[in-house]
Amino acid sequence: MNIHTRFAPSPTGRLHLGHAYSALQAHDFARGAGGRFTLRIEDIDGTRSRPEHVAAILADLDWLGLIRDEPPTFQSQRLGLYQDALDRLRAMGLLYPCFCTRADIAASLSAPHGPDGPLYPGTCRGLVDPDLTRPHSWRLDMAKAVARTGALTWHDAEAGTVDADPASHGDVILARKDAPASYHLAVTVDDAAQGISHVVRGADLFAATHVHRLLQALLDLPTPEYRHHALLAGPDGQRLAKRHGAPTLESLRLAGEDGRALSDRLRKGEVPIGFGQIEA
Ligand code: GLU
Repeated sequence: MNIHTRFAPSPTGRLHLGHAYSALQAHDFARGAGGRFTLRIEDIDGTRSRPEHVAAILADLDWLGLIRDEPPTFQSQRLGLYQDALDRLRAMGLLYPCFCTRADIAASLSAPHGPDGPLYPGTCRGLVDPDLTRPHSWRLDMAKAVARTGALTWHDAEAGTVDADPASHGDVILARKDAPASYHLAVTVDDAAQGISHVVRGADLFAATHVHRLLQALLDLPTPEYRHHALLAGPDGQRLAKRHGAPTLESLRLAGEDGRALSDRLRKGEVPIGFGQIEA
């Protein structure tokens, strides 16, 4: 098997220690197996992605000693692939345009919650002759999609065989009003197109894999092996985030810290004072 892993940050901010830990996990897994490690810049969100964040990500990875085996790929340059996937799903009758705003959905008091917030109540499902000149997203008709694939499983190195439960996400968005694809679609298409054999990423993305597994089945794509690793926590035990005031990798780098030494400390599970590791 050709082992191939990736680190896939969204360039919407500077990287912090949690990103370093995640990139290390993916990098070291590939290195340990004689495989390849790739950087994919997930910049389909044109309003929040910034070139200066991309530049910092490249410098941070070099500083940490995480060498990539090929030049980085940019999702913004792969929009045709996502369009093809959307066209196929649309031709299967599995997509519908949705005109709702976030506020519309939040106002729907009956909406139950899924892993990413309120589940879409289905307001636009079944609209007759929708006006596609108005801003709209494209949603997956989850019930139809699940009926088409039947039961699915995927394998996680930590959790073992997992029964996919995409229905818990409801009618997810696959193309956004303001972006030509959603995270779920782009990541699934790219992991397959790039021959990613092992998706090594944080436990915060475990639930998303239910949707990715469904999309793989619908689009006849291979299913990689997964490993959702434990996350670094802030002093309050919650996932490390900007609110903890955790230093960015850039600030450590510019302060003259040794990035390779930091990588080695993270490998040994030693994290800077005040930051402990939590279980997935
Ligand atoms: N771009 C995603 C993020 O920064 C991660 C994608 C993935 O690893 O699947 O959260």
